[in-house]
Amino acid sequence: MEHSLQHRERVLILQRPVSVAGGMEHSLQHRERVGVQDFVLLEDYTSEAAFIDNLRKRFSENIIYTYIGNVLISVNPYKALPIYSPEKTQLYFKKAFFEAPPHVFAIADNAYRSLVYEHREQCILISGESGSGKTEASKKVLEYIAARTNHLHNVETVKDKLLQSNPLLEAFGNAKTNKNDNSSRFGKYMDIQFNYEGAPEGGHILNYLLEKSRVVSQMPGERNFHIFYQLLAGGDEETLKSLRLQNRPETYKYTTDSNTHVTRASDAEQFRLVQDAMKVVEIQEAEQRELMQLVASVLHAGNIRFLSNDKGRAEILTHDAHCENVAELLKVDTSKLRAALTWRTIEARGDVVSTPLDLEQAHFARDALAKAIYDRLFSWLVSRLNASLAPKARSAKDSVIGILDIYGFEVFPKNSFEQFCINFCNEKLQQLFIQLTLRQEQEEYLREGIAWEPIEYFNNIVICDLIEARHQGIISILDDECLRPGDATDASFLEKLSSQLDGHPHFKSHRRVDPKRQKVMGRDEFCLAHYAGEVTYCVSTFLEKNNDLLFRDLQNLMATSSNTIVGKCFQVQTQNKKRPETAITQFKNSLNDLIKILSSKEPSYIRCIKPNDFKMPMQFDDKLISHQVKYLGLMENLRVRRAGFAYRRTYEAFLERYKCLCADTWPNYQGSARDGVQKLVDELKYEKEEYRMGNTKIFVRFPKTLFETEDAFQEK
Ligand code: ADP
Ligand code: MG
Repeated sequence: MEHSLQHRERVLILQRPVSVAGGMEHSLQHRERVGVQDFVLLEDYTSEAAFIDNLRKRFSENIIYTYIGNVLISVNPYKALPIYSPEKTQLYFKKAFFEAPPHVFAIADNAYRSLVYEHREQCILISGESGSGKTEASKKVLEYIAARTNHLHNVETVKDKLLQSNPLLEAFGNAKTNKNDNSSRFGKYMDIQFNYEGAPEGGHILNYLLEKSRVVSQMPGERNFHIFYQLLAGGDEETLKSLRLQNRPETYKYTTDSNTHVTRASDAEQFRLVQDAMKVVEIQEAEQRELMQLVASVLHAGNIRFLSNDKGRAEILTHDAHCENVAELLKVDTSKLRAALTWRTIEARGDVVSTPLDLEQAHFARDALAKAIYDRLFSWLVSRLNASLAPKARSAKDSVIGILDIYGFEVFPKNSFEQFCINFCNEKLQQLFIQLTLRQEQEEYLREGIAWEPIEYFNNIVICDLIEARHQGIISILDDECLRPGDATDASFLEKLSSQLDGHPHFKSHRRVDPKRQKVMGRDEFCLAHYAGEVTYCVSTFLEKNNDLLFRDLQNLMATSSNTIVGKCFQVQTQNKKRPETAITQFKNSLNDLIKILSSKEPSYIRCIKPNDFKMPMQFDDKLISHQVKYLGLMENLRVRRAGFAYRRTYEAFLERYKCLCADTWPNYQGSARDGVQKLVDELKYEKEEYRMGNTKIFVRFPKTLFETEDAFQEK
């Protein structure tokens, strides 16, 4: 036992913190069994098969983390691994990146140290498809930072609040989907703010694109947002009575597909955790009550029944209990609510005209109201969390680590407006990645005094422009159609796209079908060649979703509510007659703000991979993984990283490990570490092209060189 590899490895790590653990991972025996810990050390870095092979080897040994340089690749194990214990956590305290095996804690520690000791603001960008482990990774970062700052005083409340913001956001923003039992249905960027001592003193959350369509309908086998079920299962009798709720989700149209798997008991238990979390973040009892009134009002709204009268107009029965409940819970007048759900007021050339709604329009209005209430209550919750997380006293010395947990690239059999938004977001983040990675590489070369070697890479800025350029971009064309009064439709939008973007290398319309294409494009589709691959979008409902209509009558009525949350959420927009921004323009603007925030920081990346579609441990689906490797851009990432030097290490670390390979440097070298390394590589007969000597580091171009040295070391 004492001499098992793992034991030796750990002892070595503890005794000789510099380079040893990394070195162990480079030995031949180790390489064959568990692959390389950094993809840059793959002999054939252009082969996807070799890449996946390396991932598979590691995964079957329960090693879920691997680097590409400073990018962490994480494969979801779908089982609890003993790698997050307090001992494992401490292994990463104050360690340089390569001193301990790849880990999300190494990323977190690196960010924390760069922030506190080198005063460079940090951000950690997490991407991957649904169910790949992004949110878990972001929680691990937060937990690590909480543990790392344990010795500092007076931070317990702040840390508690930061940690407790998660269950709360997840209750309202997560749902069970077919891909993930606890899937985040919104994008999140969270700043953790630190004071001059490096102690966390607050936080701030930005939320993106809540999937509000889920409020009114879900795919078979999926659920609505957790909070609905939690309230019904965990609310006490008195609470439910005051909210006029039955405790069974099947009672309500919006939660009928209450599909099990997540049990009632766990929903009830979660509800208690949510209530505890609300206390921690100082949401007062009165506010909690109002919040639950909103949640309940959505459930009731779904059950409002409309009938079609003999004139084809929608009507609500005189004593529709659900309609009365909604009015009561939202504290608005019942007859006005009834009118706003069945009539629509339109201003035309100064005249105000009321027109009755038909059945379909009334259903649309009701669902739009439910979605709007939920969407805004979610934003209210985030702003409420922010108020509680705001540092008590900020000073100029404060600095932040940002964590971005946002939806990855999405390609479904059918792709709509939502996928368009999400993939646009990923296109922008890829652009940022290119800029920052190249900048980092260039800066390191400059710092080390090494001649810059230009790297060829695909710059996706053309695709960003195709989407967001003024006047000519897809977003601008879509907004023009939405603003155009009269006969604009999804079809006319597609026509405009096709005629204005015809010939763009990244745009394909149904008019020009490449005969070699396997899939024929429909007449309501267009295709974008994204950096990660082609995606075909169906334009149906683009206009409606972009306009995001809540009839003005409903908006105005909600503004009169005496429920304080509703009142705040539906404040009458300032009476300037300017149109509210479209959904996509709002998203574009908030995205560009985010990019601005991120580009002022030093980034770390976590790329998450889902090993199979069944939420199962130990199953490694090659095809599925190959798809993700492609859409995460990992091969390109590796290529850029390998364009220069595969391996770089400080002179001290390199010398310390390999000094025994040269008589001049063993057992100790008296001169500078740089000179020692020079002696060493001369002895090892490194060719001129194989390495460079920087100011503080040696740069080795090929993995082979390093491995030969390592094997020589192992034989010694
Ligand atoms: P995403 O946010 O990418 O959609 P999640 O982070 O919610 O995915 O992960 C989905 C599920 O996978 C989690 O609920 C958990 O069961 C499992 N999981 C993810 N990461 C880990 C991990 N590091 N260790 C164990 N299980 C994990
Ligand atoms: Mg998530």
